Amino acid sequence: MKKNINFRNFYVKPKLPENLESLNILAENLWSTWNPNAYKLFSRIDPILFRKFNHNPVRLIQKVPTEKLVKLSQESGFLNELDSVYKQFISYKDHKGYYLEDGKRKKFDNDFQIAYFSMEFGLHESLPIYSGGLGILSGDHLKAASDMGLPLIGFGLLYRYGYFNQKIDLNGKQAEVYNENEWHSKPIKKVIDKNGEDLVIKIKIRDEIIFLKAWEIQVGKISLYLLDANIGKNKLHHRKITDYLYVSDREMRILQEIVLAFGSLKLIEKLKIKPTVYHLNEGHSAFLIIKRLNDLMNSNDFSFDEAREVIRLSTVFTTHTPVPAGNEAFEMELVRHYFSDEIKETKMSFEQFTNLAKINNNNDFSLSVLAIKFAKYINGVSKLHSIVSKEMWNPIYSNICEDEMPIDSITNGVHIPTWLSRQMSTLFDRYIGSNYEHNADEETIWKNILNIPDIEIWEAHQQRKQQMITFIRERLRSSLMYKSSEFATSEKIKNVLSPDKLIIGFARRFATYKRANLILMDKKRLLKLICDPKKPVQFVFAGKAHPADEFGKSMIKEIIDFAKENQVEDSFVFIEDYDMNVARHIVQGVDVWLNTPIKPKEASGTSGMKAGINGVMNFSILDGWWPECYSPDNGWSIIAGSQQADQQIRDAMDANEIYDILESEIAPTYYKRNKNRIPSRWIKMMKHSIHDVGKGFNVHSMLREYLNKFYLHISKDVKNISDDNYKYLKHLNDIESKLQNNWQKVKFVNMDINIQDSETINSGDVIKINAKIYIDGLDEKLLKVELFNKNEENEFNIYELSFAMKEKNIATFEGEFTIKSSGKQSYNIRIRPNQTDLVEYYEYVKWYY
Ligand SMILES: *Cc1c(COP(=O)(O)O)cnc(C)c1O
Repeated sequence: MKKNINFRNFYVKPKLPENLESLNILAENLWSTWNPNAYKLFSRIDPILFRKFNHNPVRLIQKVPTEKLVKLSQESGFLNELDSVYKQFISYKDHKGYYLEDGKRKKFDNDFQIAYFSMEFGLHESLPIYSGGLGILSGDHLKAASDMGLPLIGFGLLYRYGYFNQKIDLNGKQAEVYNENEWHSKPIKKVIDKNGEDLVIKIKIRDEIIFLKAWEIQVGKISLYLLDANIGKNKLHHRKITDYLYVSDREMRILQEIVLAFGSLKLIEKLKIKPTVYHLNEGHSAFLIIKRLNDLMNSNDFSFDEAREVIRLSTVFTTHTPVPAGNEAFEMELVRHYFSDEIKETKMSFEQFTNLAKINNNNDFSLSVLAIKFAKYINGVSKLHSIVSKEMWNPIYSNICEDEMPIDSITNGVHIPTWLSRQMSTLFDRYIGSNYEHNADEETIWKNILNIPDIEIWEAHQQRKQQMITFIRERLRSSLMYKSSEFATSEKIKNVLSPDKLIIGFARRFATYKRANLILMDKKRLLKLICDPKKPVQFVFAGKAHPADEFGKSMIKEIIDFAKENQVEDSFVFIEDYDMNVARHIVQGVDVWLNTPIKPKEASGTSGMKAGINGVMNFSILDGWWPECYSPDNGWSIIAGSQQADQQIRDAMDANEIYDILESEIAPTYYKRNKNRIPSRWIKMMKHSIHDVGKGFNVHSMLREYLNKFYLHISKDVKNISDDNYKYLKHLNDIESKLQNNWQKVKFVNMDINIQDSETINSGDVIKINAKIYIDGLDEKLLKVELFNKNEENEFNIYELSFAMKEKNIATFEGEFTIKSSGKQSYNIRIRPNQTDLVEYYEYVKWYY
């Protein structure tokens, strides 16, 4: 074709025979990517094409020859199957959502609506708009909301190129390949306005207009809206805003996050959606707080404080990053450049406002800090991560104890239908009933797992393992790093990985802290394990390094080089281009899932949960979610180096423990067979893994926690605050201004307490307190005086003193408290506002000592 001829594209939708119309409906809803029957149905049309198109049903239907479709339309077997899957889909869509309160099922209010914002969504391998765990979690969150009938809508960006595809070159180096997404052949549609035209919204940034096209993905019953800047109306520079996920260029990045925040709010307005809850999944979308401030102040005539209060009561912020550097922050000048007008509108000076997004002496504008200051409901993604987050954000709440900080923990979970193998899924259906699709969070169903006969679990697993091995061999055959080598042409590739030998899996982003190369610490010892004649251990690795992360790339190379240099390429394997498809194969097919992060840098980690529900045992540093699940019955823990400050010593100790456990526990348990030649102790552990992980870490349970801890409260709070023309809001505001006026002068003037510093008392003794406080004209009802008592484990109890009398602005509070527990204890006495709905109530806390 001549290069100088310009062609214009147009797209043709396939015409399906009439009785196959429902196939289109199924293809366009992601439900069919996680429902095993729908998957089988599409696979039946053409299994090879289906695989080739990355299991994308829309593309499959476009590409299957018409004759084939006509033939299928005349096959009663196929029509029956289609009918049955379609009926299942309809009944899924009709399943009504509910929530449990006092054990009773209740419906959601009609006007209850959750808006969920995320930079990435990992929904399916054919939609490469995710990079790692954060995206997968967002995807699973939407799927669970659909299963449970929760009224939730997702908002994100549509990336023209998305995240890169990984190719490994002949030297074992990662190269990044960006493929343009062909949206017309994916399960996504443009949003159409009432005139039948593509819906395009406008946002203004400084003096420029950016146009954004809206797209929609149907995730079961949930809509996910994505914004696309790549349209002709935009300036060239702006067209590129949504090109790449996590661009390194800071200017581009801030533009992306402005588009995510301001664009989503604009779309919400355009679609006449009225969110009750604004859930910011990680800080990337936090600029929407600024826009909401402007909107609330302009349209409701609210003061800054009032608008802030309204935002706070309706905002959920989930943080995912336990290291300060991982949290998104921008240079102040960049923020000034883009936001000076919007900030002016808040009637605050630039400095006053940006102080709300700063921590310690850092001069950057932190989106996480902004989100924390504007959200009443905040959570980390595991118990440990919430503790670490409290330490990290402690300066924001300098007047209250770390343990008291309002950073809750809701541990991540995984969407079982998405991550469970078809073989295991059949067993689940048979032994616990197919309803777990809707009610995986009902704990009682899980005990049935323990009744599955050993042989059935083992056979299901062996089938998966074999399928994974076939998949890996195909991948290797087509990858450049082997194509030209003698390895690929020889018979050797047929011997890569044996299903009869133990396989350890490791697949995740190659971020430094995850230490993918830790296992290479003592190469001799590792080789001995791999080459053991009786109890050999095999390894599979996969994962992408961020394009700018040279160290991550060197870890990949180290793994590949090790296998080559020692000629163990058949049992120490790296497969390229990690994505959801590779992830599914590996978490379903290996025997053990290894995770070696530097504690406490793994906020949660969900790949181990995916493995766990498939009967793949976790072997992991006690970090993220694993301490909440681990028991000697369901996996192994690595703890040796956790307390070491010196990183090298720590690495060495952790690596040693890994070899020890592999040699003395994992391999012997795996290879010990009973008279039926199956490893019964191993299978017992598999069942416990499925049971414990399934029961505790399914995403339905996670969502129910968000619902009960956050969403439902917000629903009440928002009503409460807006009723009667925002009466309660005005009331809070009154209190706040009174406190503001008098607080400075409030102080303890006398304290009588019947214990001395460092005195030893007896359990059961009574502590008597009489506190006189100067309250400077404040109503004493606005204040609370408390005894704060904690033990050595930092568990605390708070006892309230009662008001006794007031004379000349001096109020007396008193109380008697019996100390029950024993050991070293500490206490203090403090004054604080009675009302914790106040925006910065923690600013008004005064301690006696
Ligand atoms: C599950 C998953 C992750 C998250 O893995 P971690 O355990 O958090 O490291 C990352 N990428 C893909 C493709 C996944 O499926």
